[in-house]
Amino acid sequence: SERTLVLVKPDGVKRGLVGEVISRIERKGLTLAAMDLRVVERSVAEEHYAEHKDKPFFGELLEFITSGPLVAIAVEGPRAIPAFRQLAGGTDPVEKATPGTIRGDFALETQFNLVHGSDSPESAERELKLWFPDL
Ligand code: ATP
Repeated sequence: SERTLVLVKPDGVKRGLVGEVISRIERKGLTLAAMDLRVVERSVAEEHYAEHKDKPFFGELLEFITSGPLVAIAVEGPRAIPAFRQLAGGTDPVEKATPGTIRGDFALETQFNLVHGSDSPESAERELKLWFPDL
């Protein structure tokens, strides 16, 4: 069993899709180890997205992710990291995510792709420490 960090980003909260995302996580058989609705501080957002700091969209990404409450969830289960990536679908919700995935079903734009999920065991460990230091 492993843990992954899932974020229902501010677009997902604003659109009322928190329940939909949690429902899909639970129906897959994954469990919730911790969950929190919060507005993320800029410093945490910068650390979370550190790998993108030189990208042209980094500024927008920080603005967006700090623009309102998001839901951070520590999700647990066998192969939780790739299992949630499968539920989420590809980063571009039209070109990459397929119907049946969260992004494929509910999103149109890459910037507003509703959810984040850790992409590797190393990322999951780093992100869970950042978002849930007491877990
Ligand atoms: P996440 O890290 O949120 O799970 P991901 O791993 O599928 O997404 P990344 O390439 O790590 O995708 O990009 C991180 C986030 O940055 C994306 O989810 C999206 O919100 C935003 N993003 C990525 N590419 C672009 C882009 N070209 N324009 C605007 N925003 C982007």
